[in-house]
Amino acid sequence: MNNTAWLIIDGYEDEPAAFGVPPYVGFHIRYVCGVLEDHDLDYTYMTIDQIRMERRRGTLERHIKNIEGVVILAGAIVPGKYVRGTPISRKEVDALIREIQTDTKILCGGWAIRGWRQQGWAPLRPSLFLAHHDLDATLDTFLRDGSFKHARRTAEQWHRWALAGASSKAVTTHPDLPDPLTVEIELYQGCVRFQRGCRFCIEPKKGAPVNRPIGSIIDEVTTALDAGAQHVRLGGATCIYTWHAEGVGELEHPRPNPEPITELLHTLREDERLDILHVDNANPSIIAEHLEESEVITRLLVETLSDGAVLSFGLESADPQVHDANWLNCTTEQFRTAVRHINDHGSERGPRGLPQLLPGVNLIAGLHGERESTWNHNHSLLTSILREGLMIRRVNLRQVEGHGFPEFDKEKFQVDKRRIRETVDAPMLERIAPLKNILRKVRWEAHGGRIRTPSDVEQERHRDLEIHGQGGITFGRQVGAYPLLIGVPYLIPLETVSDVVVTDHGQRSVTAIEIGLDPISVTEQQLRSIPGIGEKTAWAVVADRAHRRLEGYDSIKPIIDKTTKEAHPWLTTIFGGA
Ligand code: SF4
Repeated sequence: MNNTAWLIIDGYEDEPAAFGVPPYVGFHIRYVCGVLEDHDLDYTYMTIDQIRMERRRGTLERHIKNIEGVVILAGAIVPGKYVRGTPISRKEVDALIREIQTDTKILCGGWAIRGWRQQGWAPLRPSLFLAHHDLDATLDTFLRDGSFKHARRTAEQWHRWALAGASSKAVTTHPDLPDPLTVEIELYQGCVRFQRGCRFCIEPKKGAPVNRPIGSIIDEVTTALDAGAQHVRLGGATCIYTWHAEGVGELEHPRPNPEPITELLHTLREDERLDILHVDNANPSIIAEHLEESEVITRLLVETLSDGAVLSFGLESADPQVHDANWLNCTTEQFRTAVRHINDHGSERGPRGLPQLLPGVNLIAGLHGERESTWNHNHSLLTSILREGLMIRRVNLRQVEGHGFPEFDKEKFQVDKRRIRETVDAPMLERIAPLKNILRKVRWEAHGGRIRTPSDVEQERHRDLEIHGQGGITFGRQVGAYPLLIGVPYLIPLETVSDVVVTDHGQRSVTAIEIGLDPISVTEQQLRSIPGIGEKTAWAVVADRAHRRLEGYDSIKPIIDKTTKEAHPWLTTIFGGA
């Protein structure tokens, strides 16, 4: 690398309206790469997981030595647990700041950098700049003027850098390209409640919503597909129903405008290279207050999105006292109406085996006005939805972030959380992915535990086809928004894809076994994973097959002969009637 080159470190982002943890590549990091493309400068894009790998190998220095500058995007204040990548931590940013040569410029930005600064983080070193506003615009200003200043991108720059970023190294050299890389696209900025938004939320601070023109989004997606991407999520939107809505700034519930979203989704779907297409958030009060217009949009989403799509609903609290104290956007009745509406249209199963479109719900602990009974309100709303036979795909329970909120009982929150996991999530999962449900195109991501480890990535044996069916546990997911975690009680080579049938349920994951197995090669471990087949029977089948030198094992008959009735329907599904 020569000394005019830049290193871009993607520390991943997880903001309310921006997601870029693998397999997602976020839009902010792409805009940064877009700026360098625009300036025709040499640069390298690395994810924080690649940096960690180089550090373990002792080869990090060659990436950070003799370069002009480093840009670090840190976009998750309190990194949670993600299956496929872990956002950069404050400790890691500090370590990089120490390690990078003092004459190399360092530019840091993102939601976490702002959050850590508010918490008092103030690293000291020359040539370091912590961007308050847009990281891309700050980099662009530096490249023009040679000095760091806080800057915001203009609408024209937004379009230009989005386009350049879509074919930048953030996509073309991303370790997850082509599959399962999912390109998160920004639809608009801000929230229609910008004049008096929910008190915990940063979106209103961005001012009146700024919508991106349809043509700009289509160009960006087309460019990403040209660069080899296959999956897209239309994110970066606080509510998909209010994109280009009417009455923003005048009405508490602006009227959804189905035309632009219809044009956008139909145009995107005309490109056959696009495989998975999902969206993110929706505001349930907008849906409930404008059912007629919303129905047009909901039908469109069901028709054009891939199955397993989720609309996250920000209810935040079902307690009316908390609702009023925090100027929340949605009442429980509006929420219930919106959940029924999405279920009415989206609950049919699609080709990958999941309901086409379901709502999710976000609930927050620690808001103003929270009291002893707050989580009883939340719990009873969710259980009443369960009793009504409706489906909610994802219940997101989190603590409020930011300053000025009252202290709350964190231990009690853990208890309340557990109650919802046990009494709502578990039965809901059984409804969404029942026993014997077939789920297609599951991509295997981790062995042993639900989080992919460095060894899963670096050691070839995890991808060796020979391990298929040996003892162990494999976890995987389908590509898309909020995918279901699927565990299989034997080894499957990582980064391969298969179809499975659900055999059991955990609270937030399902157990499954692949379909399309072959009686000639099925292993003892795989047989033992089939409901109704124990250790002894599995061993007896394998011994019999060896003894008969495979004779008769071109069908499932010898396995049927050795197993109980309970296993038989499973055998037909798993061996595909072979
Ligand atoms: S509705 Fe409330 S939580 Fe949602 S983006 Fe707007 S202000 Fe934030």
